[in-house]
Amino acid sequence: MEVQANFKKIQENIKQICNNINRNPEEITVIGVTKYVTIERAQEAVDAGVKNLGENRLEGFQEKYATIANNALWHFIGSLQSRKVKELINELDYIHSLDRKSLAKEINKRANHTVPCFVQVNVSGEESKHGLSPEQVHTFIEQLKNYNKVEVVGLMTMAPYVDDETRIRNTFRALRELRDEIKGENWDHAPCQYLSMGMSNDYQIAIEEGATHIRIGSSLVGSTK
Ligand SMILES: *Cc1c(COP(=O)(O)O)cnc(C)c1O
Repeated sequence: MEVQANFKKIQENIKQICNNINRNPEEITVIGVTKYVTIERAQEAVDAGVKNLGENRLEGFQEKYATIANNALWHFIGSLQSRKVKELINELDYIHSLDRKSLAKEINKRANHTVPCFVQVNVSGEESKHGLSPEQVHTFIEQLKNYNKVEVVGLMTMAPYVDDETRIRNTFRALRELRDEIKGENWDHAPCQYLSMGMSNDYQIAIEEGATHIRIGSSLVGSTK
């Protein structure tokens, strides 16, 4: 399907979901995840009105950025090696995968602007997933105050890849509770107002549980080149 039709459908779904739970659909940012697709397909998404794009690898980001540049806001959603930070930090608008102090330190050293970051949390505890355990998050974020260019704007997680809706919901809910706790600290360096959670197959549940940023790949732009 055309990206435009997919985007329209997703926007309608978001409206419907928000309507049912009394949320304002404008609170939800759709990040088009273009990691599977060509530069042309990513451009098609931008032409269809997708204003935020997400990539999970340096190379994928660079090839798309070379064409699309400031016609989109750029989100880095994959795990980021510290030595690669300098290659992309000043073109990125958001990082969703802050998960260690050494990475914060490198961002602070290389960025020439304040970088809005989501701290990635491995709520479900699956070994295959990146991110801090929920118990580590509070102390970790408190320590980031020393890095002036790192601003913690929210938390990010990936739900387990299962059919059990309750498990998915509990994962998102736990992230929201953690977000509320951090936000309640009123730390200047960590307003922590956002929740990056929900992908093609679970964004409805994520929105119901408070997501502000949903990361949609396959159902928006497809999953093959
Ligand atoms: C690939 C990816 C997505 C998008 O996944 P879809 O299921 O295709 O929507 C979202 N978030 C992250 C971190 C990803 O790596």
